[in-house]
Amino acid sequence: MAMNAQGRPTRADAATAPGPTFTGNRALQIEESLIFEREFGGTGVDLPEPKAKDRLGSMKRQSPLNLPGLSEPEAMRHYVRLSQKNYAIDMGPFPLGSCTMKHNPRLNEKMARLPGFADIHPLQPQSTVQGALELVHELADWLLELTGMPAVAMSPKAGAHGELCGMMAIKAALDARGETGRTRVLAPESAHGTNPATAAQCGFSVDDIPADETGRVDLSALKAKLGPDVAAIMVTNPNTCGLFERDIRAIADAVHEAGGYFYCDGANFNAIAGKVRPGDLGVDAMHINLHKTFSTPHGGGGPGSGPVVLSAALAPFAPVPYVVKEEGRYQLVETRRAAREDGENMHGGRLTAFHGQMGMFVRALSYMLSHGGDGIRQAAEDAVLNANYVLARLKSEMTPAFPGHCMHEALFDDSFLKGTGVETIDFAKGMIDEGYHPMTMYFPLVVHGAMLIEPTESESKQELDLFCDALLSIARRANAGDASLKGAPYFAPRRRLDETAAARNPVLRWTPTASVRAAE
Ligand SMILES: *Cc1c(COP(=O)(O)O)cnc(C)c1O
Repeated sequence: MAMNAQGRPTRADAATAPGPTFTGNRALQIEESLIFEREFGGTGVDLPEPKAKDRLGSMKRQSPLNLPGLSEPEAMRHYVRLSQKNYAIDMGPFPLGSCTMKHNPRLNEKMARLPGFADIHPLQPQSTVQGALELVHELADWLLELTGMPAVAMSPKAGAHGELCGMMAIKAALDARGETGRTRVLAPESAHGTNPATAAQCGFSVDDIPADETGRVDLSALKAKLGPDVAAIMVTNPNTCGLFERDIRAIADAVHEAGGYFYCDGANFNAIAGKVRPGDLGVDAMHINLHKTFSTPHGGGGPGSGPVVLSAALAPFAPVPYVVKEEGRYQLVETRRAAREDGENMHGGRLTAFHGQMGMFVRALSYMLSHGGDGIRQAAEDAVLNANYVLARLKSEMTPAFPGHCMHEALFDDSFLKGTGVETIDFAKGMIDEGYHPMTMYFPLVVHGAMLIEPTESESKQELDLFCDALLSIARRANAGDASLKGAPYFAPRRRLDETAAARNPVLRWTPTASVRAAE
C-alpha cells in the first residue's frame, strides 16, 4: 500500500474500488433521507386515548397531517447522522481565509452555559442581573484597552451589523456638521463585500481604490480620489490579502484632512490584537468580530457579535444601550433621553431589540481572561507565524499572490495551475477527498483564482505539515496533468454539484416524492 510522508496509507485507487453498496452507505458514511421522506404515522410518544372522542366534530381533519413519525432513537439518529455530514473545526483544520475559524476553548462553552448567563431574560429587573451587566461592562473595557479607543457600542450582532452601526454613526456625525454633500465612500478593490454593501445601504455611493503591486492601498491613487464629497474610507487592516497596510497612518491623515472619517474593518484583528492599537492609527470606527478574534464557534450564518469601537468624534453617535457603573451598581442606559441625563450628548437610537449577543460576550471575555493580555498577543503572533509557515511550505509548488511575508493568512493565485487544465475549483474539490474543508476560493477578487488560507494559531506543526503535504500532493498531481482532479470529490457523500445552477435556480421548497405522495 502506498504511504504518505506521515506513514499513513494514501487514498485507494478509485479504479479498483468496488461499486456502490446495497445500502448506499459508504463505510460509516450513512446515507440519510430527509425527515419528510421517512414513513409517516408513527410516534415516539405513547399518548392516552382522548376521553372526549369527537371533540372537534366537523372541524376534524379529513386527511393525515403528514408529519414525520419517528421513534426517539430514529429521530436521534436522523439528526446525529446529519450533524456528521458537517465539517467542523472540532474535526480538523478549517483553513478558510478571512473567516478566522479558530479553536473554541471548551472553557468558554462551560462559562456561557452557567445558568446566571444562559437562563436570564433581557427584560429581567436589572438588580437581578448585576453579574451579566458587569460582564458586558468588563468586556467593553477589554475592547477599549486592546484598541486604544474611547467608546464602544456593544449591541451589533455581527461584523456586517457593526459596519452598519459605524457607518450610521459617520452619517449622523456628518449630518450634525451640516455636511450633506458628502456622499462618496472609498473602499479598496480587495474589500470584503459587506463594506460596499454597508456603504450603499447607508445611502453612499462606493468608489474603488486600486491596489498597488504589493497588494496594498495605492496611497497616491487614494489621495487623487479625495475631495469635499468624500464621507469616509473603509479599509481592512490587515487587509483581505493578508497584508498589513503600511501606509495606514498616512491614509488616516489624508482622509481626515479632506474632512472624511476612517472606518476600519476589524475582522482581521486577530492578527494584531495585543500588538497594535487601532486608536493609534487614526481609526474613527472599527467593528470587532468577537466570533472570529475571540473564539466562539461560528459559520453557517451565525451566531456572531460585532461590537464597534468609536473615536471621540463619533462616540456621541453611538447607539443605546450601554452599561454604566454608578455607586457600585451596574445599570443599562437604554434610551437617548437617559443617555442625555447621563451627561452624554447621544444621537444614536437602538440597533437591536435588546443588549447584544450575551452568549458571545461570555465566550469572548472567557477567552480574554484565560489568555490574559500576554496570551492574546501570543495568539496573534502564533497566527501570523502559522500562516507564514504555510506560505513558506507551499511556495515550492504553489504561487503566492504577493512577494514577502504575510500576516495571519497566506494568499495564492492560480498561476501555478496555468496550462494544467486544473482550476482553483478542482484543486478545492481535491482537498475534500483528502479530508479538508477547502480554503477561501476566488476571494479577494483582486487576485486571479485566489486561494486564501488562514490556519489560525490553533494548529500544531504536525497538523500544518500534514495539511501542507496534502496540498503539495494535489499541486503535483495538477502539474503532472492528472485529469482526475476535474472529477473530484470522489469520496464525499455527494460528488461535484452544479453550483452555478444551484445559485441561479435554487430549489427552496421540498416537494413530496412519488412514494410520499402515494402514502398520503
Ligand atoms: C467576516 C468578515 C466581515 C463580516 O463579518 P460577519 O460577522 O460575517 O458579518 C467583514 N469583513 C471582513 C474582512 C470579514 O472577514
